Amino acid sequence: RRPPRSTLFPYTTLFRSVAAASALREGGHKGKIILVNEEACTPYERPPLSKEMLTVPDAGLKLIRRPEWYAENDIDLLSSTRVLSIDADRKIARLADGDQKAIVYDKLMFATGARPRRLSDFGDDVIYLRTHNDSLALRNRLVEVENVVVIGGGVIGLEVASSARSLGKHVTVMDTADRLMGRVLAPCISSLLQTLHETHGTEILFGAGQLTREGDSILLENGRRFQADLIVAGIGVLPNDELARQAGCRIDNGIVVDQCGRTSVQDIYAAGDVAALHHPAYDRMMRIETWQHASRHGGHVGRTMMGFDDGYRQIPWFWTDQFGVNLQMAGSADGADQTVWRGGPECGTAFHFAGTRLIGVTTINNGRDMRPAIQLIESGWRGDCRELVDESIALPKLIKQILRTMQR
Ligand code: NDP
Repeated sequence: RRPPRSTLFPYTTLFRSVAAASALREGGHKGKIILVNEEACTPYERPPLSKEMLTVPDAGLKLIRRPEWYAENDIDLLSSTRVLSIDADRKIARLADGDQKAIVYDKLMFATGARPRRLSDFGDDVIYLRTHNDSLALRNRLVEVENVVVIGGGVIGLEVASSARSLGKHVTVMDTADRLMGRVLAPCISSLLQTLHETHGTEILFGAGQLTREGDSILLENGRRFQADLIVAGIGVLPNDELARQAGCRIDNGIVVDQCGRTSVQDIYAAGDVAALHHPAYDRMMRIETWQHASRHGGHVGRTMMGFDDGYRQIPWFWTDQFGVNLQMAGSADGADQTVWRGGPECGTAFHFAGTRLIGVTTINNGRDMRPAIQLIESGWRGDCRELVDESIALPKLIKQILRTMQR
């Protein structure tokens, strides 16, 4: 198989494109690799943006790779520019800078990520958190204000709430839903998180309904008014799939890819949270928005571009740190009808079952259980949930035994 001569990753700043470029070089790709980066800075990690960046006064960027790594690996990193258009028939991408420079590619990957959904009629000073600049702006504003209203009780909203409380701010979280991180967590874990936040003095309002901004305050439908010196919104993201649509790729809540990251257009790939893929473990289309997926999927699709064609089957996994508590979740709690605990909610592991099938796991201050638990989810194990709560045997050993029995 002839290796691609030139591979292009259009405007991206996240892990997935760097992971893909690494995978190509590690796999022996000798051709040119161009990484088009919309932001000015060298690609960086996003997890600190809602945590240390806000609470540690001089916290700087955490880079994915050293700046020299790109040149050392013969990767052209084009920063502060973006791809404006793609001619998929002629395999030409045009950059948005002055002379609209044309780049001819053999293979192209979209790792364009997602952008925050915005509130309508709330004004330009609402802060949405996605980039390093957003995080700096939020850090600067947090110094000046007393009352912070966070709209959205998802992962961004709660991490920001935790950071703002630790800086002594008065924080109110407002969500249209009836529980925290309801999209991903099991109801019992949402309740634990709610208790954690309320114990630390965050006020939480569910079923917020229509919110109206009036100057420095937010008015609820029921007439309650909240002082809001600063409004931060984390109300979900939208995939940046417009360029792929223009290039002719099939779009359905993201760029539709097969299990190898191939889009519907020859030699165009997509990876990370912009890509919608069918996940074999859950038998449904998913657009996975986690750090782990960005890295793993990017690397996987990079290898696919080299000619490997093993299907992607990584179980989604994410973590969050709030008020010093580390919460990790793997798999899905969607459709779970039973949860059993090993250990307790202060330090323990919750297993989520749909019938007899283990579909998801949450750890609280107990991340060491995560790796064996993921193996068990991957195996498709079905069994008696009571088996997992036997604490007389360490979880890795217990899971090894279960997997061995399954192989017989
Ligand atoms: P989420 O989708 O996690 O949460 C958004 C929340 O806002 C939901 O509870 C949603 O309710 C609610 N909501 C939606 N519209 C409104 C509204 N108009 N008023 C009030 N509440 C509303 O998105 P985030 O913005 O928190 O996160 C964005 C991205 O960042 C995600 O991709 C996330 O995975 C990623 N991220 C990951 C982190 C991690 O892995 N630790 C950390 C930080 C960010 P409903 O569900 O009912 O619509």
